[in-house]
Amino acid sequence: MQADAFDSSGPDLLLIGGGLANGLLALRLSQVRPDLDVRIVEAADTLGGVHTWSFFESDLTASQQAWIDPLVAHRWSGYAVRFPQFDRSLSTGYRSVTAERFAAVVSAALPGQIMLGAPVVSVSETEAVLADGRRLMARAVIDGRGPVNTPDLALGFQKFVGLEVRLAAPHGLTAPIVMDARVDQAGGYRFLYTLPFDDRTLLIEDTRYTDAAELDRDVFRKGVLDYAAQQGWDIAEVLREEDGVLPVALDGDITAHLTRLGPTALSGLRAGLFHPTTGYSLPDAVRLADRLANDFQGVNLAADIRRHAGEVWAARRFYRLLNRMLFRAARPEERYRVLERFYRLPQPLIERFYAAGSTLADKARILSGKPPVPIGAALTCLVEKGRA
Ligand SMILES: Cc1cc2nc3c(=O)[nH]c(=O)nc-3n(C[C@H](O)[C@H](O)[C@H](O)COP(=O)(O)OP(=O)(O)OC[C@H]3O[C@@H](n4cnc5c(N)ncnc54)[C@H](O)[C@@H]3O)c2cc1C
Repeated sequence: MQADAFDSSGPDLLLIGGGLANGLLALRLSQVRPDLDVRIVEAADTLGGVHTWSFFESDLTASQQAWIDPLVAHRWSGYAVRFPQFDRSLSTGYRSVTAERFAAVVSAALPGQIMLGAPVVSVSETEAVLADGRRLMARAVIDGRGPVNTPDLALGFQKFVGLEVRLAAPHGLTAPIVMDARVDQAGGYRFLYTLPFDDRTLLIEDTRYTDAAELDRDVFRKGVLDYAAQQGWDIAEVLREEDGVLPVALDGDITAHLTRLGPTALSGLRAGLFHPTTGYSLPDAVRLADRLANDFQGVNLAADIRRHAGEVWAARRFYRLLNRMLFRAARPEERYRVLERFYRLPQPLIERFYAAGSTLADKARILSGKPPVPIGAALTCLVEKGRA
């Protein structure tokens, strides 16, 4: 807890929530604009919560990879996917940021400028009010308190529970298995995700794409344990557990969403800045941090971020169409076929897809051929109802 720094009249920027988007922004500002007084106020006792944030090397530019490199705790030179009819190894690099590393690096970059254990109850463009009644003033405020329920966006969900486990014997994996769909599909699209942190330590996640947001942790936990047993991995100890319910964007009106959240500048999931299909937000958070740090004026922040979020949402219409096909047209037990077919496509196309940078030719290629969903149902998905 480093609250003393907040007694001054008001910093240049006050970040509400010390999660992924605000932490990356604070780090980038400390590198590019060390002249700015940037503070973070976080409800929890630590920055970053309980997360492992992963991304593909190809999601980021070389310069972005360089500046977030201190946060990367694990790196691999490729990854694998497994489907009932098809296995593949890809040579795209994969990286993981752990919450522990994130908290350590961001804290070191902002000494005395982080207030922990301080829930905020209201925010405005220049002020935050803490639960204990204290008011914090700033020249600018960014609200990055994570996802919020929204009636303006139609969402499906990618839900998961992950167990970090220590095995009794080496597992033999040299690269992540980002999707292993050779498991019971449990009425949706289901796959297991495994990251080998060292020769005996794995993070194993049971992930399911479903319509409803509820997460039955016991069922998912059992899914992980059963999978580990099937692979012959003898778990000596469960070190840690994390879970998530990530948004999968199907349709929506981003302008209405941002307007409903009021005039304060937003970041991260709250601003709708996530990949529509994976729910992952690290690359978008890196891009927003770069954008703001490279031209930080402290004024018009909310309008600038709103414009950026609107443009990003509009540019990703194609991914929402694919999601509607996955969620609304494909029979639940057949959804894996959509992904199995996708993973037969060329690696650069797959990389651009995850970076949300698909070209027109990529989009045509992804949609060409006999779709693995009933054609009539697919056609009903074509029209997006929300305004982009
Ligand atoms: C377990 C998990 C794993 C994920 N893995 C990946 C991944 O591998 N790659 C990827 O790109 N994405 C991943 N995601 C998705 C997404 O990137 C994360 O959810 C990401 O953390 C969202 O960033 P954010 O900054 O919007 O919110 P968060 O990182 O959730 O940050 C919000 C912060 O605000 C704080 N807060 C909330 N309310 C208040 C309040 N009232 N006052 C003060 N502080 C408050 C919270 O404590 C939190 O620290 C994962 C999500 C989860 C849940």
